[in-house]
Amino acid sequence: MEILPCKGCKGMCCGPVPITENERMKIQKAIRKMPVKKRMELKNQQRYIGTCIFFDEKNDRCGIHSARPSICKAFGHYQNLVCFKSPNTVSAKKYYANEPPIGLLSVDFTWKDFT
Ligand code: SF4
Ligand code: SF4
Repeated sequence: MEILPCKGCKGMCCGPVPITENERMKIQKAIRKMPVKKRMELKNQQRYIGTCIFFDEKNDRCGIHSARPSICKAFGHYQNLVCFKSPNTVSAKKYYANEPPIGLLSVDFTWKDFT
C-alpha cells in the first residue's frame, strides 16, 4: 500500500468510525496494556470536538496505531474512502467491512468503555 502524507494533518480525517466487536476487544486490550502514565496522558489530551478519542494530538498520530480499526487502515486506499489530500493513492476497489459494526468509536464507545 502506498504511504499517505499524514504528517501535519493533525487528525483531520480521524473522527467517529464504526467498529466491530473484535475491534472493540482489540482496542480494549491495547489500552489496558498501556502504562498508566501513557494512558492518562493520551486520555487527557485536548482535542477538537469530533476528533477521535484516541488521536494523539501531541505526536500527530493515532494513539492506538497497532490496534486501530480496519476502516482506519483502509482509509485513503479505497474508492469509497478517499483522502482528499492524496486522492491518487486509492485503488479501484471499494472497501467493505468483514463484520457488522456494533457502533461508533468516540460516540457509542468512549474512554470509559475501554479502561
Ligand atoms: S489519510 Fe489523508 S487526511 Fe488523513 S491524515 Fe493521512 S493525509 Fe491527512
Ligand atoms: S483509531 Fe486512530 S486512526 Fe482511527 S480514527 Fe481514531 S485516531 Fe484515527
